[in-house]
Amino acid sequence: MSLADLIPSLRTTLSSRLAPGLWPETARATCDGQLLVGGVDLAELAGRFGTPVLAVDATDVRSRCRAYREALPGVEIAYAAKAFLCRAMARLVDQEGLAMDVCSGGEVAVAAAAGFPGERMMLHGNVKTDEDLKTALAVGVGRIVLDSLEEIPTLAAVVPTRQQVLLRVVPGVDAGTHAGLTTGTEDQKFGLSITTGAAAEAVRRVLARPELELVGLHCHIGSQVRSVRRYVDAAERMVAFLAEISREHGVELPQLDIGGGHAVAYGPDEQSLDLAAFGRTVPAAVAGACRWHGLQVPRLTVEPGRALVARAGVTVYRVAAVKHGVHRTFVAVDGGMSDNPRPALYGARYPVRRFGRPERVRSVPVTVVGRHCESSDVLAEETLLPEDIAAGDLLAVPCSGAYHASLSSTYNQVGRPPVVAVASGAAVPMLRRETVEDLLHRDAG
Ligand SMILES: *Cc1c(COP(=O)(O)O)cnc(C)c1O
Repeated sequence: MSLADLIPSLRTTLSSRLAPGLWPETARATCDGQLLVGGVDLAELAGRFGTPVLAVDATDVRSRCRAYREALPGVEIAYAAKAFLCRAMARLVDQEGLAMDVCSGGEVAVAAAAGFPGERMMLHGNVKTDEDLKTALAVGVGRIVLDSLEEIPTLAAVVPTRQQVLLRVVPGVDAGTHAGLTTGTEDQKFGLSITTGAAAEAVRRVLARPELELVGLHCHIGSQVRSVRRYVDAAERMVAFLAEISREHGVELPQLDIGGGHAVAYGPDEQSLDLAAFGRTVPAAVAGACRWHGLQVPRLTVEPGRALVARAGVTVYRVAAVKHGVHRTFVAVDGGMSDNPRPALYGARYPVRRFGRPERVRSVPVTVVGRHCESSDVLAEETLLPEDIAAGDLLAVPCSGAYHASLSSTYNQVGRPPVVAVASGAAVPMLRRETVEDLLHRDAG
């Protein structure tokens, strides 16, 4: 019997330990098994919104936006909207004074519908359709990042006024991450290679176009990058290329965007990118390289997506069945790869926590699986859950804020879960649950 059993009032005040670094800033676990985020009891949230449901700690997002601004004074911070976007999120990013990366007409339209100013948007993408460009130009998109030679005349032909552009360049730096998340090496689909001369040719062509104003270079070496050193390497290559441009054309480009991809830990053994070290090192390395080449120091931009929202999100599932197999125990939940395809895409695995009732028994290793018809629909393997885990129990999965809702699908015609902002004890819907009516709405019959 524990102290909390003897003195019942202690149960809710004593907090039980949450693995550090994985849960939102305001997450609290009590000894009687409650889990609160933003002061909202997640069991109540599940009761009100159903399961699965994705809770987003708005306080956590805001404080990460602020941490970036503090760690990188004078550096433009652009939120990569593809990590998670809805109107409430766009307003939050706007209120925090960040710029926004968008990569489709749809992302432009959602941000614009929230009142996010077009001039603080930057349009990316290796394919920009006529529709994407039309939508972006209609809101007066601040900058467009050119990704191929073909885009140069296409864009020049449609811009209503002189358009600021950057060129996405391949720095030839291996981000040291999953192959599906690497974008800075030579052999991939994004950007223009310095090595092949395509980047230099693009600079010539853009400078020859009076409709386009080349304001800088952009690179993005990948996602889940843990090493500050790789950013320094990429930035130094970019400065060397800025110097080449200056020698050939006599122009010093005023902006350098070194992309996003800052790593977030998804488990207790994983490492996040050290933001403080990044802030101390990267701008100084750029300034040093510019001095060496005799260049003005360009204004830097960084584009974190995941690092701003991943840890704010907690997905709540309900256990549907527990199967004790010959080799292992399977715990099946009422969501899976439709609300979180990261396990199937990258082999991602998550810590899982039961909540809603006290833990009175020992924990045993189980495999937590989703509801979908694919064997890759696995959330956690050999993870510890209380051995009395049973149908009806609630499970919380942290680090769900980035690339969950935005990558979700309606596989098996399962409607996408609601996303609810939680802060100061209030739960405010950001996206409602997708219904069968929604699914049938686009079915032409
Ligand atoms: C995806 C992407 C980002 C953000 O990546 P994160 O891993 O979420 O930080 C930033 N810039 C560009 C160009 C991207 O494609």
